[in-house]
Amino acid sequence: MHFDVVVVGGGSAGVAAAIGAANSGVRTILIEKNPYFGGAATHSSVLTVCGLFAQQEPLLQVVGGVANQFLDTLQRLGAYPGPFRNPGSGNVIVPLDAEATKYALDQCVVQAGVTPRLHCNVTNVVISDGSIQAVQCFDHSGSFEIEAAAFVDASGEGDLTSLAGGKVRFGDDEGQVQAATLVMRIGGVPADASLSRQAFADAVHLAKAAGDTVLTKEKGMAVRLPGSGHILAMFADEVVNGLDSASLTKAEMSARNQAWHYLDVFRSHMPGFEQAYLVQTGPSIGVRETRHVKGHYTLTGEDALNGVRHEDVVARGGWPVEIHQPGQPAVYRQIKDRAYYDIPLRSLDVEGIENLWSAGRIIDCDPVAFASSRVMGTSFGTGHAAGVAAGLYAAIKHADIRDVQEELRRQGAYI
Ligand SMILES: Cc1cc2nc3c(=O)[nH]c(=O)nc-3n(C[C@H](O)[C@H](O)[C@H](O)COP(=O)(O)OP(=O)(O)OC[C@H]3O[C@@H](n4cnc5c(N)ncnc54)[C@H](O)[C@@H]3O)c2cc1C
Repeated sequence: MHFDVVVVGGGSAGVAAAIGAANSGVRTILIEKNPYFGGAATHSSVLTVCGLFAQQEPLLQVVGGVANQFLDTLQRLGAYPGPFRNPGSGNVIVPLDAEATKYALDQCVVQAGVTPRLHCNVTNVVISDGSIQAVQCFDHSGSFEIEAAAFVDASGEGDLTSLAGGKVRFGDDEGQVQAATLVMRIGGVPADASLSRQAFADAVHLAKAAGDTVLTKEKGMAVRLPGSGHILAMFADEVVNGLDSASLTKAEMSARNQAWHYLDVFRSHMPGFEQAYLVQTGPSIGVRETRHVKGHYTLTGEDALNGVRHEDVVARGGWPVEIHQPGQPAVYRQIKDRAYYDIPLRSLDVEGIENLWSAGRIIDCDPVAFASSRVMGTSFGTGHAAGVAAGLYAAIKHADIRDVQEELRRQGAYI
């Protein structure tokens, strides 16, 4: 098989990359190992999109382009409740319905003319003269190769970059990663039940005091989802090496045990939760962080917090820095003026591999910048940019920053 652009990973970054590349006029394939696109949104029930809007008043949307196509498609499906501003923090999220998200992403990918390839694992690469020639894939029929002129690593774990011998860093400078969390979807809770953060914390505290040693986080997050009215609860934290199946196995099982304990605690101590039941966990534990690629510029926490502008901007980050330590409440730090910072193309362009761009939570940034840029809204933005850069490279053998910016603007990106 031969394409102009291969995108590995079909999360928010990969979907945006593939559509961005296809919209710039090149033949593009999007490879995803799961049976649906969406990445953490659909496979780990991370159903609140952060980073499409900054905290500023009045409402300021900072990521457009492919993200807008996604929101428009959700709207046509009757599944876009609009942005929701948390009155306390000022954070603006877009809540998602999981099934509508899967279906909307299918439609976006197909409408753009991207070739979708689900149930397909990328396991190796063919590389020569510092350029990737092909990816090796595996499905139940066996191994096969897909050649292309340009590639995007949107795998969330930096698989493609690592397989190609590109430089990667695991976690922060000391190899520490943000906590992983198994998301719980809970049904059977009446619409008027309070989801007060303090009430959850008190309930967990009570259970811990009574001797429950399984529970980790007291101050987690709970929101009500559109459509189903289910409660999305993020409490069950684990420390995991998200690259290692042995570590993941231990974490999945331990987190599932936690989820059943949390359910029990909520039923016993939270008014309205008496008949609550687990609709679903995961399906997969949500891994926030593994590898980061080495690009041509490491986006810094100072860049993010000071709202720094870059000449070679290709995306905007508008979510505050949000750090998750295992079992601890999330720590937030505001971006200057509650606005946004620029993400430069240099942070996506993988050092040492001529025809590879990165996108989403693996782009080159320090731990503080990562704590903001990792979110799904921003991943739509960096994905779109990486796809356009790869598309232009495939078409004309170089991705000049002015051409990338012009094409992104033509495709409706906000830069
Ligand atoms: C518990 C938790 C809560 C979070 N809360 C929020 C939140 O409320 N709002 C928010 O916006 N963000 C949140 N985030 C962050 C956000 O979900 C991720 O940072 C974001 O999804 C990154 O997008 P991505 O496309 O880079 O990666 P992912 O969404 O992880 O997608 C990567 C995709 O690549 C595929 N893949 C990987 N390797 C291969 C391979 N070798 N072959 C084929 N396919 C492959 C994977 O199956 C996956 O679908 C949260 C994350 C976690 C874990």
